Amino acid sequence: MGTTKEEKEVDKFWYDTLVEFLSDLSKKHPNDADLGAAVRKYLFIATKASDYEPCVMCGEATPYRKSDNIDIRMNYVEGAGQLCEGCYNNHTNI
Ligand SMILES: [Zn+2]
Repeated sequence: MGTTKEEKEVDKFWYDTLVEFLSDLSKKHPNDADLGAAVRKYLFIATKASDYEPCVMCGEATPYRKSDNIDIRMNYVEGAGQLCEGCYNNHTNI
């Protein structure tokens, strides 16, 4: 979260945008399962478009940028790729 006046304005802008987006989305998808699917779809698209590496199994954002060295990453599986924490734990418990 920002500390300067300008940063606070930007935070407020994104907060308002997010609230508006989520309200529209929940009106469009009154069923919880449909809403969940829609959120996942948007998250997947947003992650693909960003610098952050999506999980190779579920597509959710991981905390690592595509430029981060794999040696410093957690939950990276050689030969498979970057996993999120949840998928990594499921994967290694099999
Ligand atoms: Zn995952």
